[in-house]
Amino acid sequence: MPTSERFPTAHLLNANERFFLIDCGEGTQIQLRRFKIRLGKINNIFISHMHGDHIFGLFGLISSFCLLGRTSKLHIYGPVMLEELLLDHLKYFQNDLTFQIVTHTFQNRRSALIYQDKNIEVRTIPLLHRVPTCGFLFKEKKAPKNIKKEMVEKYKIPIKDIIRIKDGSDFVNADGTIIPNDELTLPAYKIRSYAFCSDTAYDEKVIEHVKSVDILYHETTFAHNDAELAAETTHSTTKQAADIARNAGVGKLLIGHFSSRYKNYDFFEQEAREVFENSVAVKDGDVFSVPKTREENK
Ligand SMILES: [Zn+2]
Ligand SMILES: [Zn+2]
Repeated sequence: MPTSERFPTAHLLNANERFFLIDCGEGTQIQLRRFKIRLGKINNIFISHMHGDHIFGLFGLISSFCLLGRTSKLHIYGPVMLEELLLDHLKYFQNDLTFQIVTHTFQNRRSALIYQDKNIEVRTIPLLHRVPTCGFLFKEKKAPKNIKKEMVEKYKIPIKDIIRIKDGSDFVNADGTIIPNDELTLPAYKIRSYAFCSDTAYDEKVIEHVKSVDILYHETTFAHNDAELAAETTHSTTKQAADIARNAGVGKLLIGHFSSRYKNYDFFEQEAREVFENSVAVKDGDVFSVPKTREENK
């Protein structure tokens, strides 16, 4: 349930200034405005499942896009039923749409590649919930190495050799001298990744999908003591989420989606940290970054 401090689920991922909205609970557009996000920068929305706390905000957001005179396409990714729901909604409330909505639906039985561009790809993560639900794994593609400008000049490297060098080849000079690749290039950037898992019962199968991600978000609706309730309602507890994070060897665990049955939320982070030290209970508006770093030269 929304409270005055906590809105239902919505995450915004900024990947090299490309904005991806992940789930869109009630009031998401208000929060986007509060945190100074330009609505027009959002072209791709991912919906994990058809529960109100993850989708009620979508209709208001579409309406605002229209009022703002949006013309660019909006891509929405979600479970199969999403298409029918959207068509009905648009028929009653939005027959004056100023832009095209392109829906991309997916099954939740196995992981699938649902989005890719030059820099990033998005795969679904099948989850265990009362209705078909998928999380999402956002992962950068491997970028080629950067060639050092001064080396191009020093060895007079012709353009035709540059692509091969960026892919890791050495350079052979006119007199037959081999210039090793490491001398010519800066190492490639490390691939960064973010996994979003909401909502789900404890499911060890998730581990393989989120192996070594930089940041994992995993719902923790319940306290460790309420594991039975979590299982009944197909949600997770603090320690279960932390267990997934530990076994997958992730960099950082973010937890959220706390049940409104609890009076305070302080214990969530403490419980998760007992299993996985780098756990953070998120608050609305929190921002987490993964710095861009280069791999070590071998
Ligand atoms: Zn749900
Ligand atoms: Zn939920």
